[in-house]
Amino acid sequence: MFFNKVIDPICGMKVSKDVPNKSVYKGKTYYFCALNCKQTFDKDPEKYVK
Ligand SMILES: [Zn+2]
Repeated sequence: MFFNKVIDPICGMKVSKDVPNKSVYKGKTYYFCALNCKQTFDKDPEKYVK
């Protein structure tokens, strides 16, 4: 089942909402496959949200 899968906005991978790497930006939660994806997002979130 994929009901709890979301797309990592950095690399496009499907990730589970259970992952520890997440960021909240403008009230929305984003999930990342790895810490380095989260760090890339945190540096410049405006570039990745649409
Ligand atoms: Zn990623």
